[in-house]
Order: sequence, then structure tokens, then C-alpha cells
Amino acid sequence: NTVFLNGEFMPAEQAKISPMDRGFLFGDGVYEVVPSYNGKYIGFAPHLARMFVGLDTIEINLGYSESELRDICDRLIAENSNDENGGNLGVYIQVSRGVEAKRYHAYTNTGKPTLFIHTFAIAPPPSVDAPKAYRVNMTQDLRWQRCDIKTTSLLGNVMHFQQGYANGFDETILFDHNDFVTEASSSNVFIVKDGVIKTPKLDNHKLAGITRLMLLDILRKHSDFKVEETDISRSELLAADEVWLTSATKQVGAVTEVAGTLINNGKIGPVWPQVQGLFSQYMFEE
Ligand code: PMP
Repeated sequence: NTVFLNGEFMPAEQAKISPMDRGFLFGDGVYEVVPSYNGKYIGFAPHLARMFVGLDTIEINLGYSESELRDICDRLIAENSNDENGGNLGVYIQVSRGVEAKRYHAYTNTGKPTLFIHTFAIAPPPSVDAPKAYRVNMTQDLRWQRCDIKTTSLLGNVMHFQQGYANGFDETILFDHNDFVTEASSSNVFIVKDGVIKTPKLDNHKLAGITRLMLLDILRKHSDFKVEETDISRSELLAADEVWLTSATKQVGAVTEVAGTLINNGKIGPVWPQVQGLFSQYMFEE
């Protein structure tokens, strides 16, 4: 498996970074995961746009353009596609602040940022004919106040995910102090109620998911569904006709149980196949 580290392509085993890297010491960095199926990306441009906003926010000057990054990703996909992964690859791009003279909270940006890109096998794109039903946990969102940054500091997300995983759940949906849904530990949340598709509106408590963004665009352009970005309370979530998770690799994932409460009697609802179908139809258009 070929990876890219700081300007060079190399076998994964040869990729080494310093333990003084601020990505290792502080989780001081950002990342993206872009899915690619047979060499075709879903949302490459918006994923990279979000990464550049994140880099600006934390004051890292990467020194690579979007098109340079795309060339690197294209080469990794070409080299790493094989019979085993069937050309279904996630491209992981991570930028950390790199090595500075000492471990100290303040940064000087005197070092070079560390750029690491690798690919990993992902499942084929979800199909409405073979749906996966997600069973999710629910708990209070105990992460920090800048969840809009896609940082590699994921301990909060990891703890929330693990809390569900250890109890046999596929994901954990999070709600804030006022009992409003923020997002899930690695996905955004949608509900359907009386034919209206709703998702929490964006703020600093949730990541602006690219799948969320693309799905909203597709629904507004190519369907008659009523779509709302609005507050969703915990009780509205539990009383929803359908609940979905969105993320780059899940696309639109239908949820049939939230922490013991069955959604639509534990069956995937009728709106989901229409919406996942629309997503599949338009997802390769950027
Ligand atoms: N929220 C969080 C916390 C995430 O980690 C992710 C994806 N990893 C998402 C939402 C979904 O974002 P995207 O659709 O861009 O994958």
C-alpha cells in the first residue's frame, strides 16, 4: 500500500514522523476523508474546501493547492486499487502543524506542516436494494465548543462512539444542554416527520458535513421534498417517522432504533430509498 508523506510516495511501512510532531503531541491538525469508487470521487472539491477553511482557522499554511493534492490522491488511488478492495477506497488526508523546537502550547509556525495521505478499503456504495439498518445510542454531547473544525483531536468523538459500540450500537447521536440534537459522533443527523425532511442547522457545535451539504443540495434541486434546517429536540428525534445518519462513507444511513426506541416500528421507512436513490444518482456531480 502506497502512502504520501511530506512530498514523497512510499510504502506504508516506510512512513515515519517525529514524536515531536504537534499532531502527535497536541492533536494539532485537521483531516478529511474523501470516498472514491473506481477512481471517481464523491465531493472532492467541497471536502478540500472545508479542509482549507479548517487550516485557515488554525493558522496552518499547507503550501499545496487543491489541484496538487488531487494529483497526489489520483496517483494513490491508481496504485492502491486492486481486486481485494474493488476500487472502493477512502482517501484520508491529514495535515498537522509539524515539529517545533519544544513542546509548548503556543505555536510559531516555524516548522513545516506534516502532510500525510493514505487510502483504505471501504464498502461499495450503499444500495437501496441491500439496505443497512443502523441501531444507534443517544447521549449528551460532552465535546468541546468548536466541533465545526474537523480536527484530528477526536477523543471526545472517540469516547462517544465507543460508548455506543461497546453496547452493540453502530453510532451515538448527541444532544446539547437544551436537549437539541447536535450530530452523531461521526455523522450528521436527519429526521423525517410528516413528509418534511429536517436536519439541525449548522453552528459551532457540529461539523458541516459534506454529505449533509450535498444531500440538501440534491434534494432542493432534484426533488419536491420540503427540507428544513432547524432545531430538532430529543423528543422530536424519538417521535420521528424516519431517522438517518449521513457521512462520506455511509451516504444516507437509515436508523431503525435510537437507544431502545424503535423508529418506524424498527423498519426502514419509505422516504429513505427515494432519498438514498437520489443521492446515488447525483453524488458524482460536484
Ligand atoms: N460529524 C462528525 C463529527 C464527523 O466526524 C463526520 C465525518 N467524519 C460527519 C459529521 C460527516 O461529515 P461528512 O459528510 O463530511 O463525512
